[in-house]
Amino acid sequence: MQLTDTHCHLDYNKFDSDRADVIRRANDSGLIRLLVPGLQHKSSKEAVQLAESNPSVYAAVGFHPTDLEEFSESTFQQVKELASHPKVVAVGEIGIDYYWVKESDKRAIQRDVLKQQLAFAKEINKPVIIHMREENDAWIGEASIDLLRILEEWQGTLQGTLAEQPGVLHSFNGNLETAQKALALNFYLGITGPVTYKNADEKREITRHFPLDKILIETDSPFLAPVPVRGKRNEPAFVHHIADKIAEIHSKSPAEIAAITTANAARLFAWGD
Ligand SMILES: [Zn+2]
Repeated sequence: MQLTDTHCHLDYNKFDSDRADVIRRANDSGLIRLLVPGLQHKSSKEAVQLAESNPSVYAAVGFHPTDLEEFSESTFQQVKELASHPKVVAVGEIGIDYYWVKESDKRAIQRDVLKQQLAFAKEINKPVIIHMREENDAWIGEASIDLLRILEEWQGTLQGTLAEQPGVLHSFNGNLETAQKALALNFYLGITGPVTYKNADEKREITRHFPLDKILIETDSPFLAPVPVRGKRNEPAFVHHIADKIAEIHSKSPAEIAAITTANAARLFAWGD
C-alpha cells in the first residue's frame, strides 16, 4: 500500500529528538511521499532542508496567516528565493485565520498577504496550500466568505494546469456549501484526523460528498492525531488511520483510498508517480 501525507510540520521542535526515526517509520509504513509546508521564512527554510536530505520529503514555502509578524518585503523575497528549489512543489501554507486573529486591521493584513502570495504562486506556476479557520471554529463565517471571494478572483486569472488544479484547502473544516464552492474552483480538499473523531458524524457526512479524485489525506503532524492515537503527538505514519476512515465512508478498501489519494497528490504536486 502506497500512502502520501500531504501536510506534516516535521520542522517543529516536537520532532527534534527523533525526526529521522519519524521519517523512517513513515517510510516503513508505506508512505512514499511527505509534504512539509512552511509557516514563515525560518520554517520554510527548514522544510526545504528536510526535503534536500530526505528523498521522500517535499516542501512548500510561504507565510501562515497567524505568522505574519516577520512578513516584510525582504523576508518575502527570501521565501521567494527558496521556492526555486527543485523539491518545492507549492506555495503554503497561506490563507485566512479568524480564530486566532480578531482585530480587523490584522485580518486585513492577512487578506493582503494572501493575495500577494497567490500572485507569486501564479508567477511561478505552482499550486497553493490553503489554511482557513473561522472564529470559534464555526463551519461557516467571515473567513470562508473572504477566502472564497479572494480565491475566486485569483482562480479567474489562471490558465492551463494551474487553473485546472490551483491547490488544496488543507484540513478542510467548512460546511458542504463551502466545499462545493471550492470544488467548483477546482480545489482539492485535505482531510485530517478529526474525521475519525467519535463525535464527527456531521463531518463524515460532508466528507461522503467529496469526489474521490479531489481528496488528499494529511496528518497535520504534530497536531490532530487521529483515533486511535488521539491526544498523542501526531506523526506521518498515522496517516493510514485517516485513509481507513475515508475507505469506510466511501465504501472502498483502504488500499483503494491509498492509491487514489496518492495519485491525487502526485497530480496536484507534479512530483512524478
Ligand atoms: Zn499546517
